[in-house]
Amino acid sequence: MRFEAVGVDGSKQQGSNLCTMLIGDSVLLDAGSASMLAPEQQLSTELVLLTHSHLDHILELGFMVDATVSTRGEPLRVMGSMACLESVRKHYMNDLIWPDFSRIRTGSGPALVYSSPGDREWFDLPGGLKAWMEPVCHGAGGRGFLFRSDTGSILYTGDTGPTNTIWERASEMEDLRFVVAEVSFPDRLRDVAIASDHLTPGLLQDELRKLGDESIPVHVFHLKPWLREEITEDIRRRFDNTVSLLLRGDSLEF
Ligand SMILES: [Zn+2]
Ligand SMILES: [Zn+2]
Repeated sequence: MRFEAVGVDGSKQQGSNLCTMLIGDSVLLDAGSASMLAPEQQLSTELVLLTHSHLDHILELGFMVDATVSTRGEPLRVMGSMACLESVRKHYMNDLIWPDFSRIRTGSGPALVYSSPGDREWFDLPGGLKAWMEPVCHGAGGRGFLFRSDTGSILYTGDTGPTNTIWERASEMEDLRFVVAEVSFPDRLRDVAIASDHLTPGLLQDELRKLGDESIPVHVFHLKPWLREEITEDIRRRFDNTVSLLLRGDSLEF
């Protein structure tokens, strides 16, 4: 299964792209930069899985629905925690900020359908992919995910501060291929990271001990663009080459 980084940044500045990952051909994980996808990729996206409703993760969901509504065969499925979906419905696609596409009918039904999988149970996604949704330490209905294909599993932390259960769950996976973990701030801003439920390289180092296997590759994303150099330096100092920055356009297999 292919995991492709469409956008990796934790905020917006010239040259940056907000979090969006493409898994296989038809599942999008977060939609901050969904408009970066080619028109045919947007059209083949069957489902968008949201980690939470903060703007950097949902911003371009509305533009993607808009651009594909008249040509899409089936409704676009949008999944996430109940709290996340409620915020998107109430505060974004509410007919005030952007149209409520769940109420716009096309030939095949509504343009968009919301649904929430249960926490802590495997559910099926298009393309033979399975996912597990785990509460993490972050607001806006924050969740992290484990994904499982026929050939391996991965952990995607989403936005989170220090947390336990998702690392414990991941440590039980015998075929964990890699981890995609957030780091938003440099070590110097540890207090800011803790207060906003994010990680620094130092906090990530503590989290990775919970995994109990130092050989698993870790790809770091969600850096604040204006702090990228300082965070990169902290990462270089703290870790050997098992921890690297996830870059836009990176394609990983699991
Ligand atoms: Zn974020
Ligand atoms: Zn967030």
